[in-house]
Amino acid sequence: MPAPRSVTVDELVARYEGILLDAYGVLVTEAGPLPGAAQFVERLHTLRKPFCVLTNDAAKLPSTTARRLQAMGIDVPAERVVTSGSLLIPHFEHHGLKGRTCAVLGPPDSVHYVLEAGGRIVPAHADFDVLVIGDESGFEFIETMDAALSSLYARVDRGAAVHLVVPNPDLVYPAGIGAFGFAAGTLAAMFEGALALRYPDRPDLRFVRLGKPHGPIYEEGLRRIGTRAACMIGDTLETDIRGANRVGIDGILIGTGVSTPDWTTTPDDLRPVATLAAFVP
Ligand SMILES: [Mg+2]
Repeated sequence: MPAPRSVTVDELVARYEGILLDAYGVLVTEAGPLPGAAQFVERLHTLRKPFCVLTNDAAKLPSTTARRLQAMGIDVPAERVVTSGSLLIPHFEHHGLKGRTCAVLGPPDSVHYVLEAGGRIVPAHADFDVLVIGDESGFEFIETMDAALSSLYARVDRGAAVHLVVPNPDLVYPAGIGAFGFAAGTLAAMFEGALALRYPDRPDLRFVRLGKPHGPIYEEGLRRIGTRAACMIGDTLETDIRGANRVGIDGILIGTGVSTPDWTTTPDDLRPVATLAAFVP
């Protein structure tokens, strides 16, 4: 298959009524704003073109993410941010998890999401109904992982039900130019590996994944921009672009982040409609 065509920022703003954007690898990295991101968002404001930032980050509240972007000169109001963490609220509602005991791995904003969803917070070494992996940071890593694993084993051993949820299914995040870090999805994969080892006949012991490429985060973003004549600009084929294809909007791969695809071997469900090298030529 040939490479997708490349587009310019001018074409994108002319073609689409609304724009969904990833944050990390598109607007910012851990090292700071990406070149042209602030100007692009400013242009969307000037054109009154609705946009929404969809981020798998579940370690920060939308208001925290918005403030962080604003501090880097990128003018994104809190109501234009949908985080995977905010999807915990409908998830808890849908699965009847309100009032259940929850161990939460992550910083205070992750805990805030679970409280807002109606969970009762307990430590990782306690007996818990629900394990939420909010983030890979904000806790004593190996001690907490070990404690949660021991609690899980004890619970499954005695035949009790457990609900496992990871809002952010990402395995890797861009930590700077040429630098990467493990993300929350990798922690879920660690637990799943350890559970499969002890309970090989329990394929149901898996985490529910809420963020991109799953549908709810896109549907919430599309609801907020008020149009489906939209594109999703992202840097990762497996999340941003796969999810855009699933919900039937155009995926645009930007070249400033994780994915540097070999188009000859990229499967159809991961192919963007077009590529954008960067916000600045
Ligand atoms: Mg990204």
